[in-house]
Amino acid sequence: MAAEIQPRPQTRKPVLLSKIEGFQDVVNTAVIIPKEDGVISVSQDRTIRVWLKRDSGQYWPSVFHTMPGESSVQHRSSRRFSYQEFVLSEDYNQMTPARTYQAHQGGVTVVLFVLEMEWVLSTGQDKSFTWHCSENGQQLGTYQTAAWVSGLQFDVETRHAFVGDHSGQVTILKLEQDNCSLVTTFKGHTSNVTALCWDPVQRVLFSGSSDHSIIMWDIGGRKGTAFELQGHNDKVQGLCYAPHTRQLISCGSDGGIVIWNMDVTRQETPEWLDSDSCQKCEQPFFWNFKQMWDSKKIGLRQHHCRKCGQAVCGKCSSKRSTIPLMGFEFEVRVCDSCHGSITDEERAPTATFHDSKHSIIHMQYEPTRGWLLTSGTDKIIKASTCSHSIVSVLFDRD
Ligand SMILES: [Zn+2]
Ligand SMILES: [Zn+2]
Repeated sequence: MAAEIQPRPQTRKPVLLSKIEGFQDVVNTAVIIPKEDGVISVSQDRTIRVWLKRDSGQYWPSVFHTMPGESSVQHRSSRRFSYQEFVLSEDYNQMTPARTYQAHQGGVTVVLFVLEMEWVLSTGQDKSFTWHCSENGQQLGTYQTAAWVSGLQFDVETRHAFVGDHSGQVTILKLEQDNCSLVTTFKGHTSNVTALCWDPVQRVLFSGSSDHSIIMWDIGGRKGTAFELQGHNDKVQGLCYAPHTRQLISCGSDGGIVIWNMDVTRQETPEWLDSDSCQKCEQPFFWNFKQMWDSKKIGLRQHHCRKCGQAVCGKCSSKRSTIPLMGFEFEVRVCDSCHGSITDEERAPTATFHDSKHSIIHMQYEPTRGWLLTSGTDKIIKASTCSHSIVSVLFDRD
């Protein structure tokens, strides 16, 4: 007799544990210290702070470091933008600068440390992507990107880098020790890519954008499928994947935190069809002057049914519906025949919505303890827990 454990995601909302307040400026990045009740914050005012949870339950600063300001002595054209590595003492009371990476000719936008490779990947406002050896600080290679980069992920096993930029595209590069080659680009967003998240197990890349949408690029499926997730009313600011519960956590500048169930079979959204007339009632759309004059009807605005992709007029698409398996958690336009075909079961939400009560700039999720950290424009860091989101059910099998 064998026991089988089946994790079941539940609709449990993030519960606020504590707040870290008193920042002079906005916190751009905040991370949980592994295996510790501690947080490291990097603020707009160039300070790096280490916070430890005291017996009172409050986080108190333990040590801080101020990054040097921009030098006015050096000529602008020769200025190099760097990022720095620090060593934290075991008692978290000391922070020692270890190495400076002179990586870019414009402000550094993203830094990613890959422990397994001993590489540090970085991108800058000079539109360059570089990677350095963290053992000796040597630059290994560089690649010019199409636009400013704001999202960066890396697959250790196959050495692919995913680079999301301000033009809305994601570039996939294959890295060797000292050179790289362009594999392909993903074009799906109509505005900046703001966040990327890679799940190396399912081999799925999630991209979030200022266009409010998230796209799930199913690379492991090998069929070129991409799924849309529409659950934010403003810019998507952060994406984290919880592998053991198969949930995607996304956050936005609207303060919303959306927890997506990724353990469902999702459907691709249809391509929008081009037509000069409504594909239901055959009324011409307004730019179809010839047919309009021939039949002497007044042109109609063209709309698309989100479910079948057909071009339909307003009269033939008067109803709205959610289509959660296509990623539409909010009501969208559907044609009348599709509206009748969507069952209540198909309308069941596949995501839960939560209000963080601040406009989120950065988010981090720590899956082992289920901790969620959000940093907002209100200069506050909030630590929440989603740890009770799994119920393990034991089944006996003969
Ligand atoms: Zn029509
Ligand atoms: Zn339809």
